Amino acid sequence: MKKTKLYLHLKKWLEIAASEYSMIKKNDRVLICVSGGLDSDVLLDLLLSPMLYLPEFESVAFHVDLGFDPQHEGLTVLDNFLESKGCEYYLEKTDIGPLAHSIKNRKNPCFLCSRIRRKHIFEAAEKYGCNKIAFAHHKDDMIETLLINMFYGREISTMVPNQPVFGGKYHLIRPLAYITEKLVKKYAGESNFPYIQNKCPTEPVSKRAYVKKLLDYIEKDNKNVRENIFKSMRHVKPDYLLRPEMTLTDEVEAAAER
Ligand code: SF4
Repeated sequence: MKKTKLYLHLKKWLEIAASEYSMIKKNDRVLICVSGGLDSDVLLDLLLSPMLYLPEFESVAFHVDLGFDPQHEGLTVLDNFLESKGCEYYLEKTDIGPLAHSIKNRKNPCFLCSRIRRKHIFEAAEKYGCNKIAFAHHKDDMIETLLINMFYGREISTMVPNQPVFGGKYHLIRPLAYITEKLVKKYAGESNFPYIQNKCPTEPVSKRAYVKKLLDYIEKDNKNVRENIFKSMRHVKPDYLLRPEMTLTDEVEAAAER
């Protein structure tokens, strides 16, 4: 493995994020979710490389094929890539993509698609004895998700670096949380990782694609906009926000107490 300057930079920030959020503990077994995109190629590569500060852990790579490509050409490429990494891995073929785009579900394919995919991922974690589930979401994904949740979900929230689920049975971890998409893609290019095109018809017109374009546009005038949004998530001033929504009962009780 070539220890380029970029590799060392990414490793440093992966280990900082993982340490700050206690993502990996000794003897954890991590299910590394590999989508076929460059981001998860990079995640896999970095997690399989020797760690300086993180404790020893085991890992299993896992891919859910969404069924957009009936010829499975991409799957063969991914299979070869995973084989070349010498790790334990599993590929699962599904028809989640076409199902999420069926006539009955035209309005919001992403919701159903993500939901069923998550189900498969949790089942895989159970099957392969993993307690941590690693996603390749990076800093830009967190920034975009914050805006998506505000624009469309009416809430201020994002994907967090370490999230316990099912009462702590699993933890969803995002070791690339402190790394920008630009650097992730640069490293993937430098390393010649394969890119499997997501043939989902919704992807180019998704909310994420819209927010990405919007940020690119703002960035022309304010080159720090992404970094500023990311930093703002650490500088929350609840006193300068609205109080949480109250139910009518809460309002009545509050009025009675006044
Ligand atoms: S863009 Fe396509 S692949 Fe991604 S969540 Fe939406 S439906 Fe699924």
